[in-house]
Amino acid sequence: MIRVLVVEDEQHLADGLRFNLEAEGYQVQVAETGEAALDLVITEPSLVDVVVLDVMLPGKDGFTVMSEMRRAGQFVPTLMLTARGHPEDVLRGFAAGADDYLTKPFELPILIARIRGLLRRREWLRTTLNNVAATHTTPPEPKDTFSFGEKSVNFDLLELRVGDQKFPLTLMEANVLRYLIRHEGKPVSRKHMLEEVWGLQEDTDTRAIDNFIVRLRRYIETDPSRPRHLLTIRGVGYRFVASPEKTE
Ligand code: CA
Repeated sequence: MIRVLVVEDEQHLADGLRFNLEAEGYQVQVAETGEAALDLVITEPSLVDVVVLDVMLPGKDGFTVMSEMRRAGQFVPTLMLTARGHPEDVLRGFAAGADDYLTKPFELPILIARIRGLLRRREWLRTTLNNVAATHTTPPEPKDTFSFGEKSVNFDLLELRVGDQKFPLTLMEANVLRYLIRHEGKPVSRKHMLEEVWGLQEDTDTRAIDNFIVRLRRYIETDPSRPRHLLTIRGVGYRFVASPEKTE
C-alpha cells in the first residue's frame, strides 16, 4: 500500500486530507509539525512513499523542512502546498528540493492526480531509461544508468556520479535531466519541459526550470559559467550534449 505523509498543522485540513486519501486507497500518516515530519522521514524513510507538505507550519516552515530533508539525503517525492498569489513560494519550494506544488485552496481530485503523477514518474524513471541507453552510442552500463564522459546518472538511486564524487538528485532534478537526455542534441523549450516533466499546462513561471538547470550545471559542468553539456539556447530553452568534444 502506498504511504502518504501529510504535514499540516490545521486539524480540519489534515483530517479532510486523511479521509479523502484513505478513500483513494492510500495509507495516511499526519505530522502536525515540521519537526515531527523530519523525525519520521529521516529515521523511518521506508515508511513514507510520498509527502504532502504545507508551507505554513508552526516552528520550522515547509521550506526549511524541505531543504533539511534533502540535506539529510532523503529524496522521497514531495508536493508542497503553497499560498495562492505567492508565486515566489513556488520557486522557493523548488529551490528547497520540492518535486511539485499545489496552491491552496486546491481541488482534491487535482491533489490526488498530482500524487499519482509523482509516483508514476518515479516508476517511469526507473523502468524506461533503458530505451535511451539502448539508442545512445555510449555503451550502456546497467540499464537504469546513463553515462556521458566521466559522469553517470543512476536514475534508480537518483544519484549522479562525477568521477569519485556522488551527488544525490531530487526526483524532479532527475526528471529534468532525463528529459534533456532523451532529447540529446536537440533544443527543448522551457514550455515543453514544464508540460512534459511537470505536467503543467497553465501559464507557469518558466524561471522554475532555470533554477533546476543552475543546480544540474553545478553537478555536471567543470565550469558551470561555461557549460558544455547543458547549453542555453537563447530564446528557446536548453540543449543537452552528451559528447561536446564531438561537436566542437
Ligand atoms: Ca498549515
